Amino acid sequence: MPELPEVETIVRGLRKEIIGRRIVGVWLGWPRLVKSHSPSEFAAALKGRTIGGVERRGKNILIDLPGRPELKLLAHQKMTGHFMVGKWKLVGDKWESLDGGHLGHKKNSYIRLMLLLDDGRGLGLSDVRKFAKIVLGERKEIENLPELKKLGPEPLERGFTFSEFEKIAKKKKSAAKRALLDQNFIAGIGNIYSDEVLWLAQIHPLEPTSSLSRERLRKLFNAIKLVLKKAVRLRGSSVSDYRDSSGKPGNYAKTRFVYRKAGEPCPRCGAKIISMKVGARTAHFCGKCQKVQK
Ligand SMILES: [Zn+2]
Repeated sequence: MPELPEVETIVRGLRKEIIGRRIVGVWLGWPRLVKSHSPSEFAAALKGRTIGGVERRGKNILIDLPGRPELKLLAHQKMTGHFMVGKWKLVGDKWESLDGGHLGHKKNSYIRLMLLLDDGRGLGLSDVRKFAKIVLGERKEIENLPELKKLGPEPLERGFTFSEFEKIAKKKKSAAKRALLDQNFIAGIGNIYSDEVLWLAQIHPLEPTSSLSRERLRKLFNAIKLVLKKAVRLRGSSVSDYRDSSGKPGNYAKTRFVYRKAGEPCPRCGAKIISMKVGARTAHFCGKCQKVQK
């Protein structure tokens, strides 16, 4: 699933590509993708609107559509969804890329939504597994959706300080891995970056954040900022099928510490990296230098 760095990379790409563009047509190949409208209502609401802005909140993408009323489109790419901008042609019920921007990534038959833009290009949402979701509504209505309202702080925002983190972490009794995955604790972190952050902070995935000393909490806080900043700079990780909005893979995976590296040596101490189930997820970590401290 795309996490904060991947979604941020897509949002930055979309800002350059689609702001100021007018939507001239809407094609919806998977009606259940849109949770708020029927396909015809959805198309009618979007047609003629100009895209005013693109933002990220947690792993959600928010597209501003100024006008009366002011609309906002929320998209969550979930497991395999991703937006792609390019020139497309509809052949039967499948979209073919005309600008070669997505070669080597034949996701065209998985395009579920295409917003046709006034410059002849299209904003497509490809989604192999059909878990992505879109909600369209008036700006206030979207901003008040529980999934946005309940989200924890944005870890890369300046306002997210150590004292704020310490306050919430002291109250969090669950295992550190689970805590980092909880979007209502901190927004945007998923399976890849929780493993990476815990390795850097030398914290065992099962150690509850509430029992960490101030010094170790500070290490965890710094690791969150460091890992996410580095991953944004490297344009995300393409361990599975993530691609940015122009079809390019991210570069973080090449420099990753432990995620999906079970059996390989720990980059810090050389011991073997191990994996372990934490709830429904798998944690990858070093059993030697990420010990629960008494
Ligand atoms: Zn180690």
